[in-house]
Amino acid sequence: MAEILDGKAISQKIKEGLKKEVEELKQNGVIPKLAVIMVGEDSSSKIYVRNKSIACDQIGIEYEEYLLNENTTMKELLELIYKLNKDDSINGILLQSPIPRGLDINEAFKAIDPKKDVDGFNPVNVGKLCLGQDSFVSCTPFGIIKLLEEYGINIEGKEAVVVGRSNIVGKPMMQCLLNKNATVTICHSKTIKLERATKKADILVVAVGKPKFITSEMVKEGAIVVDVGINRGEDGKICGDVDFEEVSKIASYITPVPGGVGPMTIAMLMHNIVKATKQQLK
Ligand code: NDP
Repeated sequence: MAEILDGKAISQKIKEGLKKEVEELKQNGVIPKLAVIMVGEDSSSKIYVRNKSIACDQIGIEYEEYLLNENTTMKELLELIYKLNKDDSINGILLQSPIPRGLDINEAFKAIDPKKDVDGFNPVNVGKLCLGQDSFVSCTPFGIIKLLEEYGINIEGKEAVVVGRSNIVGKPMMQCLLNKNATVTICHSKTIKLERATKKADILVVAVGKPKFITSEMVKEGAIVVDVGINRGEDGKICGDVDFEEVSKIASYITPVPGGVGPMTIAMLMHNIVKATKQQLK
């Protein structure tokens, strides 16, 4: 039976450490502050944003929310980003995705000052990650690497397979694993014989967005399985992309959903805000 990679417990530990760092900053008169922009009404986004605000509260980070209606123009969105870029009291800016179809999210990410880009989606930070330079690393892949490291899992030399190639999860995940010297394969909807690729994985990261998409037949015995997916199953409960019940019988380690990657993502966002604040003091 697989050992559980307990993202909830590890994220708690990380947040406690960050809380102390924030207290020290406050003693020097500095209060980290995050600005979150949400455009339109997306029910999942509302939950994610609420969880981020709760984490800020726990750690002592100030939090400001900008809720724009779905008819917002690109010009209005960019103007808000430029205003927040210039505002010295704001240390981190987060644009919650998705945004309405008519708006260009890549243009918006590009407009965020790379020094305040705590989600790591600005092309400058994406480029730095590719070059192996210090950057703001996108929070989900960053959290996954931290989680593996906390459990003493050695990534170097491992066959790592990432299923999903989105800009926010799959691609930066591939890069993070490569930077840790894994041999990486990345799969997507056009991959032929997906099972052939997933079955060779020592580390399998799944970010597809389909409930129970990865079955035990697709996983090698003893593999480390990381489930990024957040889906609502037929029973109405939150579930991942991996068939947890079956795969946990053959994997060596596995992340649960909820309680795995999700809380780690939020903890790394908090980490990035504290890092941004400290860098802006210099
Ligand atoms: P996207 O929809 O942007 O990307 C999904 C990826 O899965 C695409 O690359 C797509 O391929 C690939 N895919 C779809 N069908 C198949 C298939 N049959 N075989 C192989 N690959 C396939 O999703 P995200 O990356 O944004 O999110 C993925 C999941 O992770 C979602 O459930 C989301 O809610 C969750 N999530 C969780 C987070 C957390 O903190 N835990 C953070 C972010 C996301 P193609 O590119 O060819 O279309």
